[in-house]
Amino acid sequence: MESAAFRTWLDGIHRLDASQRDQAVRELVLAEAGIHGDAAMVASEPACPPPPAGAQTSGGAAAKPDLMARIGQSRLASIGCPHCDGDDIRPWGMAGGKPRYRCAACRKTFNPLTGTPLSGLHYPDRWKDQAQALINGETIAKAAVRCGVDYTTAFRWRHRFLKALTLDKPASLSGIVEADETFILESFKGKRRGLPRAPRKRGGKASKRGLSAEQIPVIVARDRSGATIDGVLPRLDAASIAAVLGPVVEKSAQFCCDGGTAIKAFARRAGVAVHVLPAPGIPRPEAPDLHINNINAYHGRLKEWMRRFHGVATANLPHYLSWRRTIEALGDRSTPEAWIRGAAGLGPYQQGLQ
Ligand SMILES: [Zn+2]
Repeated sequence: MESAAFRTWLDGIHRLDASQRDQAVRELVLAEAGIHGDAAMVASEPACPPPPAGAQTSGGAAAKPDLMARIGQSRLASIGCPHCDGDDIRPWGMAGGKPRYRCAACRKTFNPLTGTPLSGLHYPDRWKDQAQALINGETIAKAAVRCGVDYTTAFRWRHRFLKALTLDKPASLSGIVEADETFILESFKGKRRGLPRAPRKRGGKASKRGLSAEQIPVIVARDRSGATIDGVLPRLDAASIAAVLGPVVEKSAQFCCDGGTAIKAFARRAGVAVHVLPAPGIPRPEAPDLHINNINAYHGRLKEWMRRFHGVATANLPHYLSWRRTIEALGDRSTPEAWIRGAAGLGPYQQGLQ
């Protein structure tokens, strides 16, 4: 903006009312944080002074009934009553901007979020911003600015939104299944006591190469439909791999892996046809479809995407694996609504979208 126009723009500031000033400050802070693209969506949200703790915002109530009603219908269809699994459910009015239901069997009432990690979370009018932060893979600091909440709340929201997705996994992997382990650098961020060693600076390198106490083994398997499962391994052994892959890899699968001892041992015990390929996989001319290039590419995308977090605490690693898995499973259906549904236990695998 040229300087005379900027002077005119600045002179307009004193004519803004409190709500316009509030909106302008948010826009400026978002611009400062480098958040672009959907500022219009943020600005179009009703101006939201923090409501009293425990209250449902009227803005959220006005903006949400359609989404909440749809989540309610989907949850009734998939799990029924969250208290007793009963399926004779009656509408029971509205409360706090959400439909309410009553179970004929146990006579308890509930709403679309009862029993989900979103239950009791405040400021529903800002959840679309939180979902957008997940879609963009934003840091806590950026998400806090986007949602207008403090850093601690943004951290809590991130993990509340990811919790249900850790259970959103494919029921089975079939056909050609590629599996490989990778290693994620362990972080002790946030822990002050009981450290096994002095904390590293953020994003540091492991002091030892390859497998060591500082590298957490992770297994990922993916079939050619794109269905993907992952898990943190307590140890790199066949039993740990079996705990993750055993329930989902079908007996008829063509199981492709590198020559790792643990993964080969798992495949033999599971009784699947195993094809050992060197990584990076160069398929044999007589079997061009048998390779592990897809799973290696997945590892590459996972690690590149995780770099922004500068190391994550081991206990939270399943959340980050699920976050990445959901980005991949939703693909171009990755909307804020899809992520709110996922946070309410209706992720892409649960809904059969993947
Ligand atoms: Zn019930």
